[in-house]
Amino acid sequence: MNSGQVNAVRGMNDVAGEQASYFDLLELTARRLLASYGYNHVRLPVVEKTELFCRSIGEVTDIVEKEMYTFNDRNGDSLTLRPEGTAGCVRAAIENSWLNQGAQKLYYMGPMFRHERPQKGRYRQFYQLGVETFGMTDSDIDAELIMISARLWKQLGIEAELLVNSLGSAESRAAYREALTAYFSAHYELLDEDSQKRLHRNPLRILDSKNPALKAVIADAPKLSDWLDEASKTSFSGLLAHLDAVGIAYRVEPTLVRGLDYYNDTVFEWVTTELGSQGTICAGGRYDGLVTQLGGKATPAIGFALGMERVVALMQAKAQPIPAALDVYFIAAGELAQRQVLALAEQLRDTLPAMRLMVHHGGGSFKNQFKKADKSGARFALVLGDNEVAQQQIGIKFLREEAEQLMLAWTELPAWLAKQLAI
Ligand code: ATP
Ligand code: MG
Repeated sequence: MNSGQVNAVRGMNDVAGEQASYFDLLELTARRLLASYGYNHVRLPVVEKTELFCRSIGEVTDIVEKEMYTFNDRNGDSLTLRPEGTAGCVRAAIENSWLNQGAQKLYYMGPMFRHERPQKGRYRQFYQLGVETFGMTDSDIDAELIMISARLWKQLGIEAELLVNSLGSAESRAAYREALTAYFSAHYELLDEDSQKRLHRNPLRILDSKNPALKAVIADAPKLSDWLDEASKTSFSGLLAHLDAVGIAYRVEPTLVRGLDYYNDTVFEWVTTELGSQGTICAGGRYDGLVTQLGGKATPAIGFALGMERVVALMQAKAQPIPAALDVYFIAAGELAQRQVLALAEQLRDTLPAMRLMVHHGGGSFKNQFKKADKSGARFALVLGDNEVAQQQIGIKFLREEAEQLMLAWTELPAWLAKQLAI
């Protein structure tokens, strides 16, 4: 390797070309969709105090135990690159008194950082779309979040399976935890090292293990559903009724516990088998206790986070058409023409601001420029030579359809383009 070259940090990727176009399409679609449901966009810091994540996510979780990018800044404060967005959003909601302003429906998009083993669908910098709501207890908000995600898949032309479960209240989970500890203690020798470590500190996390060798012992473990209290049962059946009413299919998955500590009652995941082992594209749940845990007044809350790389990979696998990035590619050859082309392009941009127009740079023969025009994905090439300039005309070549090249007067061009492009 060239010793002068500096490469990116492992697991942190550059996104360009087709993948970047799919990211844009996902972001655009999500923004429109969330706005249509009345959700507000918030921009939150990428760095927070380390304590925030330790206190919210839980000490005995993959994230806090081994995945955080934590460092001391120049003042000696311990800071962490956010591994997820919920903690920061709750911090912001408390700090800015959003919680005193009635129910909140918020969303954000941006990079998250976890020191995991990089592999397909698992990176050290990855992007999430996060949606968080505050101040609503009823299961209709749980249902709305699932409906939003279901509609997003529809709009993106992808498919996933919905898994849902109820974790119950903190109290019922404590009772369940005892039963689970007893069960796994009785099968101690079947557990892997990670799970043995978790047995007394956080036995629910064993249910979340990705080790296939543990599948059988987990399948026979006591089910959380048998420990739920009446309020949790009512809320869960309420959610399922809402989903039935709008025809969203789901599977109740008793071992779905989610990897973070702060959830209660509803949890859900959207999974696909098309991405190999990193099949969860979106995950969420209720976290009614987190706001008080972080020093705010008791506020019910529920949200979800979507892994954007994984959704983009699905969109690519389904080869969803991405709209062409350009309408027009403008080429010019000849001294007069090259002097004129930028001014003509600027005039067109004044009259047709919605048109996507790229001017060819770097000169070259018409033949070479036509090749670039073709590759650009544009529908039309505008062609300007010295003759055209002298006559105040312009050539138009159709790049995507069979049609004869045209010659138009400069004055006719804007109206012609507006009609063709329907803008
Ligand atoms: P997993 O079980 O795959 O480790 P998780 O439970 O740690 O996921 P969450 O914290 O719930 O994930 O994050 C929500 C979503 O973000 C995940 O469902 C996934 O789509 C995505 N995600 C999580 N970690 C990564 C990562 N390292 N790289 C890419 N996407 C990720
Ligand atoms: Mg993880």
